[in-house]
Amino acid sequence: MRGGGHGFPGFGTNDGGVVTDLSKLANVEIIDKERHLVRIGGGATWGQVAEALTPHGLAISSGDTKSVGVGGLTLTGGIGWKVRKYGLALDNVAATEVVTADGEVVHASAEENPELFWAIRGGGGNFGIVTAFDFAAHPTTDVFFGKIAFAACGPQIHSVTANRTEFLGEHGSVSRPAALTRLGLSGAAGPGLDPCAAITTEITLAPGEAREVIFALGQADSLQDVRRLISESTQSRPARSQLKQVQEKWDGYLSALQVTTPDPAMDLMLNRWLVYQVLACRVWARSAFYQSGGAYGFRDQLQDVMALVYSAPA
Ligand SMILES: Cc1cc2nc3c(=O)[nH]c(=O)nc-3n(C[C@H](O)[C@H](O)[C@H](O)COP(=O)(O)OP(=O)(O)OC[C@H]3O[C@@H](n4cnc5c(N)ncnc54)[C@H](O)[C@@H]3O)c2cc1C
Repeated sequence: MRGGGHGFPGFGTNDGGVVTDLSKLANVEIIDKERHLVRIGGGATWGQVAEALTPHGLAISSGDTKSVGVGGLTLTGGIGWKVRKYGLALDNVAATEVVTADGEVVHASAEENPELFWAIRGGGGNFGIVTAFDFAAHPTTDVFFGKIAFAACGPQIHSVTANRTEFLGEHGSVSRPAALTRLGLSGAAGPGLDPCAAITTEITLAPGEAREVIFALGQADSLQDVRRLISESTQSRPARSQLKQVQEKWDGYLSALQVTTPDPAMDLMLNRWLVYQVLACRVWARSAFYQSGGAYGFRDQLQDVMALVYSAPA
């Protein structure tokens, strides 16, 4: 059964197997304006839902990628941007239309076939094909995208890929990426990839010649700003001045407190590296090697910001 095709079962197939593609069941219809009840076909994607509901000032807590399917995400829970306020996607399902294994079309809700209703809420597609979901949507304003991230390169770009598996190779590693054993990248980009940004450029050096190659990584609010930043930051002088500013800022944070212990390895960790980790990963990115969900809650955040009392007091 393929909903949005974002899970392995929906994405793949097998020899002699049959895939039922639900993508034509993509209708999104407001069935009760007052209660904000919305009927959504079992093969719709969250992008189609957002597109249909945004003009009505409504939204449903769903995933972070528009090509993820309503079916697969909802039937297994569904964590979305509004989960803290409105719960999981499946918490907002009021009723469903299900085709069971014997071909019967049944309705399942808290009142009608309640056992089936509770079973599909978390039991995935194991109990039948959900051809329609009735969701309680929520009034929403200010639906907007986040920043646009970009990677760029000073000399002309030769090739790119946003597919980490292509860059590293099927069993490759960062210390021996497969892409470095051949010339050129495929240009692959799009949803469903293990993402990365890899760029190659081509330069020909005369004997003894040195050339500067600038790689830039950044983010901006609009494509216009992205283009402006790329043209600025991939030229030698502005790139050097921006790099200097960044280095000076970090030096300010990382040299505020210096610790000397009998163990040089400990000093290396404490001076600079850990402070950098706390500020860049835990506080700004809400992610880190050892807790990539980030730090939430009073105790975690207190512990993180206490580490910055001297380095970044404001
Ligand atoms: C880039 C990306 C971002 C993601 N972001 C989030 C996120 O923010 N929050 C989150 O909770 N999850 C997220 N996921 C996980 C996602 O919820 C699951 O992969 C989900 O199973 C995808 O549903 P689908 O319909 O697109 O997938 P499919 O592979 O088509 O389906 C997955 C499973 O559900 C079954 N199924 C699908 N539709 C129906 C239906 N109508 N009736 C019965 N069975 C059905 C399929 O048979 C299959 O077993 C993300 C996944 C990816 C790849």
